[in-house]
Amino acid sequence: MNYKTDVLIIGGGISGLTLAIKLAEFAPNENILLITKEELEECNTFYAQGGVACVWNEKDSFKKHIQDTLDAGDGLCNEEIVGEIISKVPERINELIDWGIEFTKNKDGAYDLGREGGHSERRILHVNDLTGEYIEKTLIRKVKICKNVELKENMCAINLYTRNLKCYGAYVLNQITNEIHNISAKAIVLATGGAGKIYLYTSNPDVASGDGIAMAYRAGATIANMEFYQFHPTCLYHPYAKSFLITEAMRGEGAILKDIKGNQFMQKYHHLKELAPRDIVSRAIDTELKKTGDDYVFLDIASKKDPEFIKTHFPGVYNKCLEYNIDITKDPIPIVPAAHYCCGGVLTDINGMTNVKNLYVLGESACTGLHGANRLASNSLVEGLVCAYNCAKSLSKKITDIKIKEFKPWEPGNAIPSTEAVIISQNWDEIRRFMQNYVGIVRTNRRLQRANKRINLILDEIERYYWDFKIEKNLVELRNLATVAKIIIVSAISRKESRGIHYNIDYPNKERIARTSKIEKPW
Ligand SMILES: Cc1cc2nc3c(=O)[nH]c(=O)nc-3n(C[C@H](O)[C@H](O)[C@H](O)COP(=O)(O)OP(=O)(O)OC[C@H]3O[C@@H](n4cnc5c(N)ncnc54)[C@H](O)[C@@H]3O)c2cc1C
Repeated sequence: MNYKTDVLIIGGGISGLTLAIKLAEFAPNENILLITKEELEECNTFYAQGGVACVWNEKDSFKKHIQDTLDAGDGLCNEEIVGEIISKVPERINELIDWGIEFTKNKDGAYDLGREGGHSERRILHVNDLTGEYIEKTLIRKVKICKNVELKENMCAINLYTRNLKCYGAYVLNQITNEIHNISAKAIVLATGGAGKIYLYTSNPDVASGDGIAMAYRAGATIANMEFYQFHPTCLYHPYAKSFLITEAMRGEGAILKDIKGNQFMQKYHHLKELAPRDIVSRAIDTELKKTGDDYVFLDIASKKDPEFIKTHFPGVYNKCLEYNIDITKDPIPIVPAAHYCCGGVLTDINGMTNVKNLYVLGESACTGLHGANRLASNSLVEGLVCAYNCAKSLSKKITDIKIKEFKPWEPGNAIPSTEAVIISQNWDEIRRFMQNYVGIVRTNRRLQRANKRINLILDEIERYYWDFKIEKNLVELRNLATVAKIIIVSAISRKESRGIHYNIDYPNKERIARTSKIEKPW
C-alpha cells in the first residue's frame, strides 16, 4: 500500500515526539505521520534514569555547563553548537513542565538538582530515577491530542528512497500484516535512537539497532565520530536479564568491585578506586575480564551496607535482582560494562539538517557536535529536545514549498520465507561478540583488523542472503547492525590516537590537532 504524508517522522522517543508536537503547532495545515518499530513506549528515552542537565539557579551559569561539556568532549565538540544548545535548554525544560512533568522537589519545595560525574554544579533535574519514563508518557499524552499527527506502531522502516542525494520517502514493513508500504513525504526525519545492540552487552532496549544511521548512510548521508561509543560500567550480568543498569549511585554509597575470586582490583587503576570516572572504571573491568577470561565481575554492596539501607536506597535494583534470585542484601551482583550511548551519528546542523535534501536526523542518531569524543552525563535528552524544536521551526517555514513525489513500490526479490533463521541469529551473535571483544572499551590495531576481516565476511554473506529471504524485522536489523558495525570499525581504525572514550593501546597519546572522523559511501 502507498501512503502520502507531509512529514514522515521515524521514531517516537523524546526527539520524534517533541518534533511532532511542535510541528503540529507551527505548521497546523501539514499532515504528520509518526511511526515506531515496536510499541510507542519502547525506546531509549523510556529507560533514562539520571535526568536532564539544565542551568537552573543563579549559582550555576551557561558558561560552566558549556565548559563541562567541552571538557568531556576532549577537544572534539563544536563550540558554537554547544553554546547554542546549552543556552536553549531552560526554555525547553520550562515547556516540559508546562506540559505536565513534575520534576522531583526537595523539602523546601525547590527542584532537587542532582550532581553527576563531570558536572561542576548541581544541575540534573529528575523524576526520582524514572525521568525518561515520565518524559515519554507525558509526550505521548500530548502528541495524542495533536489533530494533524497520526501515530502508527509496529512499523519498521527498511530503507529510504533517495535519488541524487534527495530523499522522497521510506519503505516500511508493517509487522502486523507483513506488507511493505512506500510512504512518500515532503520531509523525512530519522529519530531512531542509538545502536547499543551492536554490542553483546548493552543498556539499550532491543529497538536500538542503529537503523536510522544505517539507512542514512545508504542514502548518502555523512556519518561522523562513530568510534566514540560510550560504555556504562555496571550492567547486570544474567542469561535472562536484558539491559538492566545498576546505578552509579551504588558505588557512590560504597559498593566495591571484585573479581569472581573475591579480590578487589580498582586500587590498581585509579586512586579514587570505585569512584573513578565512568570510562576509567569501565576500562578497568574490561582489562580484568580480558586478563582472566571470566564473563563478569562482582559489585558488592551487601558487605558494606545493612539490608534496610540497601532496600530503601535501591528498591529498583533490589527488586529487579530478586527476580533473578540475586538477593543484593546478601550476595554480590554479577556485572559487566555495557554499550550505553552513541556519541557519533549522522552529521547534522542544529536543526537536524543533513547533506541529503529533505532528510533530517535528530537525537541519538545525529552527530551535531555537542558531545565530541565523550558525552557529558544527562546531556542527551536535552539535545533531543532543543534540536527537535529547532527542526520544527525550520521545517515549518519551508514545508509548504516542497512537493511530494511518489516512488516505485518495493521489489520483493525472490522473497523466500526464511527456513534458516539460524543464519540470522548466528550472524547477530558473531557481530555482537566480536564488537564487544575487539571494538569495545579497549582497542588495539590487531583487534580492529580482526574485526574488520570478520565484518567483511558477514556483510558479504548478508548481501547474498538478504535479497533472497522474505523481509523480516530481524533481517532488516541484522543488515543495519552489520553496516553500523563496519562504520564503527572503519572510524576506529582511522583514528590514530586515544581521545575521549576511544582508547587504543597502540596509540596511547592524543594527536596535536583534534579531528572529526567522517565516513561516506563507499567505505
Ligand atoms: C538505560 C538508559 C539510561 C539513560 N539515562 C539518561 C539520562 O539520565 N539522561 C540523558 O540525557 N540520557 C540518558 N540516556 C540516553 C537517552 O535516553 C537517549 O540518548 C535518548 O533517549 C535518545 O532519544 P531519541 O529520541 O534519539 O531515541 P529513542 O528514545 O531511542 O527512540 C528511538 C525511536 O526510534 C524507533 N525506531 C528505531 N528504528 C526504527 C525503524 N527501523 N523503524 C521505525 N522506528 C524505528 C524506535 O521504535 C523508537 O521509537 C539513557 C539511555 C539508557 C538506555
